Amino acid sequence: MTTANELLKLLSHSREYTQYFAELGVETIEVSSEPKPAETSKSLPATLTRENSTERGTPSQSEPPRPSMKTPVVPQPPQPPSLFGEVAVPRPASLQSVEGVEDVWRDIGDCTRCGLCEGRTQVVNTFGNLKARLMFVGEAPGADEDAQGKPFVGRAGQLLTKIIEAIGMKREDVLIGNVNRCRPPGNRQPTLEEAAICRPFLFREIAAVKPDVIVVMGNTALRNLLEVREGITRVRGKFQDFRGIKVMPTFHPAYLLRDPSKKRETWEDLKKVRDYLDKLPPRTS
Ligand code: URA
Repeated sequence: MTTANELLKLLSHSREYTQYFAELGVETIEVSSEPKPAETSKSLPATLTRENSTERGTPSQSEPPRPSMKTPVVPQPPQPPSLFGEVAVPRPASLQSVEGVEDVWRDIGDCTRCGLCEGRTQVVNTFGNLKARLMFVGEAPGADEDAQGKPFVGRAGQLLTKIIEAIGMKREDVLIGNVNRCRPPGNRQPTLEEAAICRPFLFREIAAVKPDVIVVMGNTALRNLLEVREGITRVRGKFQDFRGIKVMPTFHPAYLLRDPSKKRETWEDLKKVRDYLDKLPPRTS
């Protein structure tokens, strides 16, 4: 039997859905009783495949997983018990870092560590709130990001802003970065080598900021942070772990621009993130 409370909860969920889709510009939603088969890049219509797309972020199952890199971990002395008992959570000990994000940026400098430097206008570093509890990670800058020097400022970035707002946050509250910081020619996917050269800087930023949740958007971010074999279509929506930090894999906003039907799944994934963050106690540091 459905109780009044359950009905109220259902109502509030459907209101959230409506608001989210309205904010994303979706006017109608197709309802199907048939379960859809899991989608891979092979099953996408020709217009949605990576090969003929100028946008990044299309799910692709073709790449092998990459080993995650180890960043230097600084041993910490035992912490005194918190005055607030269970209310406050210290950051994960495995992520204690002595450097700040600015140190990482200084180290990156006018980077020429890989060939991507030849075609870029500028290095696009991680941007946003350096005390963020929530971080988003994409693939690499596109043309707009390369011109403006900030991640996710183009069409995919505008959609990302709406997604952030749909979970009740502002862009200024979060941190946004990419696996690679230089725009690959023609918006191609970074090679394994290019990603392996660049991602240690992302890991160092993560260690410096220590967000509570990282949302990895698309296969490149997924496979550079986590040791997973499966693609984003299979892993999305399930919390993973990166050195003690919760990671939520979801679709890349550029992919959502090409296939808006996937916004529903993204909303489900982001609601889990919001609910997890809502339940967290305040931080001690
Ligand atoms: N796509 C990405 O992966 N990153 C950006 O910064 C912009 C588009």
